[in-house]
Amino acid sequence: MTPEKLDAVVIGAGPVGLACALEIQRRGLTVTVIDKGALVNSIVGYPTNMEFFSTPELLEIGGYPFPMASYKPHREDALDYYQRVAASEKLPLRLYERVTGLRGQAGNFVVETTKGEIAARAVVVATGFFDVPNPLAIPGADLPHVNHYYKEPYAHASQDVVVVGAKNSSAKAALSLVRSGARVTLVVRGPEVSESVKYWIRPDLLNRIKEGRITAYFNTVLNAITPTTVEVTTPEGPRSLRADYVYALTGYRPDYTLLVDMLALPLDENDLARPPIFDVTTHESARPGVYVAGTVCGGLATSRWFIENGRHHAQLIAQALALQPAKANA
Ligand SMILES: Cc1cc2nc3c(=O)[nH]c(=O)nc-3n(C[C@H](O)[C@H](O)[C@H](O)COP(=O)(O)OP(=O)(O)OC[C@H]3O[C@@H](n4cnc5c(N)ncnc54)[C@H](O)[C@@H]3O)c2cc1C
Repeated sequence: MTPEKLDAVVIGAGPVGLACALEIQRRGLTVTVIDKGALVNSIVGYPTNMEFFSTPELLEIGGYPFPMASYKPHREDALDYYQRVAASEKLPLRLYERVTGLRGQAGNFVVETTKGEIAARAVVVATGFFDVPNPLAIPGADLPHVNHYYKEPYAHASQDVVVVGAKNSSAKAALSLVRSGARVTLVVRGPEVSESVKYWIRPDLLNRIKEGRITAYFNTVLNAITPTTVEVTTPEGPRSLRADYVYALTGYRPDYTLLVDMLALPLDENDLARPPIFDVTTHESARPGVYVAGTVCGGLATSRWFIENGRHHAQLIAQALALQPAKANA
């Protein structure tokens, strides 16, 4: 147990969690950031050398400039940037420590972790969405050659790789795999490559499909994965697709076990995306004293909040927390 009671514990050392912690600290409050993995763990897990869609100034936190010689930052630039911000602000970090529960109430919480307990007046939940892949729910989905996280193509040269999905991540993975010598088959549930794929990636993918370098099956349902094949039903009937490796890039979802069972956050069940209920002016959830920030605020709608817009939750939360002692003494 940390001896003194902190003003706030931030769960999640992603870009938004870091933004919250530095805004809270700048208001003279005590804070610790806790993460089950590395600093900016989600970005650590993104593809090697992945290029952000956003320009650098839209990823900045705490007013720190994100200088770039080129137009769009890569994963490695962002990792370097957020590490420098955390170090410059001397943010107290507890990494590789997972939050497992929360007892108590506003002003008097105990955050339970895999390494102990932390007493805090308030808690900020900034746990993102990247830890729980949407399940495939078919036989063979748990085989060791099925992966929900794409890193880089080099292990797959001269191999048959099936990529499932037709959004940005699957489009980029299919293109990078085929350019590094893999034989790529794209399996898509819908009738086409998603219109939401970025305008500079979509035509590239469509042209690779048109010229036959990538084989694509649309309106196609996955039935099973075996050690050597992916079994599908296409509009023309069943097919057995050779697969040495499978990337099921079908999206991710927030960790509802954490949000509901461990943190007891009430959800908005009238919203199909099941986001946590929160006050939009302060980001305080329906569990008083617990605030939500960043992507987690959108529930299953994981593209509702991202770094560009989610980073602004930090000021709202820090302002609300800074007003609390005044309220308590009033
Ligand atoms: C390939 C890709 C490209 C993207 N490009 C862009 C872009 O160009 N621009 C943009 O704005 N957004 C982009 N996004 C989205 C953006 O990265 C996310 O919206 C962003 O990471 C959200 O930040 P966050 O701080 O809310 O959550 P995250 O960055 O996901 O951070 C959450 C943190 O919480 C930690 N955590 C989770 N559970 C626990 C627990 N129980 N205990 C302790 N810690 C826990 C995780 O380890 C993680 O470090 C992209 C996403 C992907 C996948």
